[in-house]
Amino acid sequence: MAVTLAGSDIWAQRRRRVSELRARQGFARQLLDFYGALLGVQETAFQEAATALPAADDVAAYVAEVVVSRVVDVSLFAGPDRLRSELIHRLETERPVGMIERWIAGDEQPIVDRYLARAALGPVLEALDTKARARCGGPRDARHCPECGGPPQLSYFERSPDDLATGPRRLLCARCGATWGYPRMTCAGCGEEESAKLPVFSEHGTASGERGSVVRGLPGGAAGGPEHAVFPHMRIEACESCRRYILSIDLATERAAVLLVDEMAAIPLDLYARERGFSKVIPNLMGF
Ligand SMILES: [Zn+2]
Ligand SMILES: [Zn+2]
Repeated sequence: MAVTLAGSDIWAQRRRRVSELRARQGFARQLLDFYGALLGVQETAFQEAATALPAADDVAAYVAEVVVSRVVDVSLFAGPDRLRSELIHRLETERPVGMIERWIAGDEQPIVDRYLARAALGPVLEALDTKARARCGGPRDARHCPECGGPPQLSYFERSPDDLATGPRRLLCARCGATWGYPRMTCAGCGEEESAKLPVFSEHGTASGERGSVVRGLPGGAAGGPEHAVFPHMRIEACESCRRYILSIDLATERAAVLLVDEMAAIPLDLYARERGFSKVIPNLMGF
């Protein structure tokens, strides 16, 4: 089945990138170890959903019944202390199916509820066809996923076919993993287009960093020029109008990058943006 073949690719790539970044980005090691453990559970959930094919109306119940307990187990085993205690506390009073339904609806919810809902539902939505995604709440406009209405987790530039230049810009959905095209130098949070209001920050030593706005003092040190940069392929795209930001990944610069994994492990860029008073369009699965 095509979905299964494509699926094993996705999961193998994510695992490969977790071990690459784990070796290279010591500051993200704990988070990547946890995410690596979670990936095993998510891959199983993906494969099972691709076979079971729950009906679009039953997705929340299916995920609550089949996937949640395994996500809880791995989170209690390998997750950070704070997540563990909050998870235990929330599960004493809240039913997981409600948390999943609120994430599907696009409603506000406590961070730990959102974590559990995303970790369990994400791989299932990735495995299912567009009908399950179409049941999700949220606007269908340029700044939201055309398939599920979810917000963008990250921005990226594709590799162009001739490999010589950076390709078109796309956004990747935080809820279902679909991607869609989006204009360059336009805020992914509010649509602002005036370039004076769209500061870009990248690491000192990278090409865009040398143009002025630089992130200094990163762990790993980027003082020695581009060859020492930790994030040569990433930048912070911020907006003075809505005071939000999104991380952007250039796949032409780093061919081995895997979008979700690279975004998650770029903690110093998130901290830098936050210090400057910007908040992310939506935090990633790990809360950054
Ligand atoms: Zn989506
Ligand atoms: Zn904006």
